[in-house]
Amino acid sequence: MANSLHDTKNIAVLIVTPGILTGIIYILRQLFDYVIRKKEAKIEDLKGRHAEKLEVLKEKTNFDRTKELLVRYSNGEDIKELENEVRQSELRKQEMLRKLAEDQEVKPRNRGAHDRDVYGGIMNLVLGEDEMGPDRRYALICGRCLQHNGLAPPGERPENVKYICPRCGFVNGLTEPTGQSVLTERSEGSEVQDSRGAILVGSQNDAPVESSAETVEKPKGNSLDDSLDKSVASTEHSSADKQNEIATAVEEKADSETRSQK
Ligand SMILES: [Zn+2]
Repeated sequence: MANSLHDTKNIAVLIVTPGILTGIIYILRQLFDYVIRKKEAKIEDLKGRHAEKLEVLKEKTNFDRTKELLVRYSNGEDIKELENEVRQSELRKQEMLRKLAEDQEVKPRNRGAHDRDVYGGIMNLVLGEDEMGPDRRYALICGRCLQHNGLAPPGERPENVKYICPRCGFVNGLTEPTGQSVLTERSEGSEVQDSRGAILVGSQNDAPVESSAETVEKPKGNSLDDSLDKSVASTEHSSADKQNEIATAVEEKADSETRSQK
C-alpha cells in the first residue's frame, strides 16, 4: 500500500516537473523576445533619426553654398561690403573713445565740463554712430574770417548752426530764424558735440594760444549760453552791425569769465 502510494507520488513528480520547466522556458523565451523586439525598434528609430540628420545637414550646406554664391555674384547689395562698413564704424567708435580719453588727460582742470563732453560723446556714439561720421556733416566756416571751425552737428546745415568764431569772435548762424528755433530745441548732447568740434579744430590749427584757450573755456559757461540765447531772441531780425555788437559783448563776458577762473 505504501509502495503504491510512493509510486503515484513519483509519477506525479515526473508529470509535473516537465510542465513547470516548459512553463519557465516559455516565459523566459517571451521575455527575451520582448527585449530583442525592443532593441530592434530602438535601432530602427535611431536609423531613422540618422537619416533625418543627414538630410538636415545636406540642406544646411546647400543653403550656405547658395548664399555664398549669391553674395559673390549678385550685383545688388554686397553683404560683405555691409560687414566691412560695420567694422569701419566700430573702428571709428574706438578712435573717438581714445581721443576723448586723451583729451581728459590733457585738460584735467576742465573736469566737470569735460565729463559732460565725454558722456555726451559716448551717448552719441552709442545712439547714432553713423551720423557721427565726418563725411556726413558740413564744415563750419566763419562768415567773417573764413576760419574752419569744425563740423556742424549731424543733420544740421552749417548756416543754421549758431556759434562764436574762436578767432575773430563773430557770431555765426544768426541770420536764419529757423536755425535759431532748431538750436534752442537741440539737446545738450549735440551742443556739447558742436563745441567739441570747435575745440578739436582749434587745437589742431595754427591758431594763437589765447584763442585756443578761449575755445576751451567757452563751452563751459552756461550763463554765457543763456545770455547769447537772450540776445538772439531780442535781435531776431537785426542787421549785421547789431550782430557784431552782440559778438563783442559776448566775447567780453567770456574774457571776464576766463579771468575769474584763472
Ligand atoms: Zn571768424
